[in-house]
Amino acid sequence: STPVATFCALLTAARIGILIKGGDILESLAEITAVAFDKTGTITRGEFSIHAFSVVGDKVQMSHLLYWISSIESKSSHPMAAALVDYGHSKYIQPKPEDVAEFRILPGEGIYGVIHGRHIYIGNKRALARASSCHTDTEETKTMLGAHLKGGVSVGYVICDGELVGVFSLSDDCRTGAAEAIQELRTMGISSVMLTGDSAEAAAHAQEQLHGVLDEIHSELLPADKVRLVGALKAKAGPTMMVGDGINDAPALAMADVGVSMGISGSAAAMETSHATLMSSDILRIPEAIRLGRRVRRTIA
Ligand code: ADP
Ligand code: MG
Repeated sequence: STPVATFCALLTAARIGILIKGGDILESLAEITAVAFDKTGTITRGEFSIHAFSVVGDKVQMSHLLYWISSIESKSSHPMAAALVDYGHSKYIQPKPEDVAEFRILPGEGIYGVIHGRHIYIGNKRALARASSCHTDTEETKTMLGAHLKGGVSVGYVICDGELVGVFSLSDDCRTGAAEAIQELRTMGISSVMLTGDSAEAAAHAQEQLHGVLDEIHSELLPADKVRLVGALKAKAGPTMMVGDGINDAPALAMADVGVSMGISGSAAAMETSHATLMSSDILRIPEAIRLGRRVRRTIA
């Protein structure tokens, strides 16, 4: 390709808010036939609101539980963490991150920390699986869990020393322009799939908000599952783009023919392994970038 045409195209991309790491990536953009989108923070805003919060059992008081959660979550950069810390603030709880020891991120599951000698997991069904089943089996708890699971939202569990002590439900809305962007890709002959670590209910909720425009949705994925599915998409549909923001998306971004990270809200890990970075939250720039790649190819050919 001519260096001048490539250089101009990279500048145009930067002007519409996409930083592309090299000229060869423009050529890959032109070839894309499938796009895999992460859900949380990519298709959705990554701004959760808490619907309900319940204490399970009578071992722990609500105020203690909220203090543990906001202290541990204040060490996490996951979109759910900010919502939980805010929820604590709304109940006059000050997080104390300095009280948390052994903080760990558990990809595809949640987070872990020790606070005043108590071992606490906060996360999805995988985190719940760490609780001994006996306590979750009472009628009262079953009814409560059922209530949280209604309405296609994400549900989080708090496990303290092997016991379920708290449940919360929360949800997040799709970004403006997400449905249009995916529709636009479709008119360009490109299929779109969603890959998420979140629950099947939350994935279906997003697909509903998008009026069913996604060709496939895959939920409850670990980072390695996202890599495997991007590989499968490459084999089945051809050159594949992956768009994602999280630490858990980084390996899948590297696996894709073109990995695009989210610059504003995204993690450093995603930015490092990606081939391009979207400097705004405007998903409509994705089809625009692919069109740009196609135009450059025509100009050069
Ligand atoms: P994704 O961002 O695609 O949902 P992750 O692997 O980051 O994937 O997270 C998977 C799931 O683990 C989330 O949907 C959430 O249920 C849970 N999770 C992750 N981080 C946290 C956190 N800090 N607090 C509570 N739950 C979390
Ligand atoms: Mg994400």
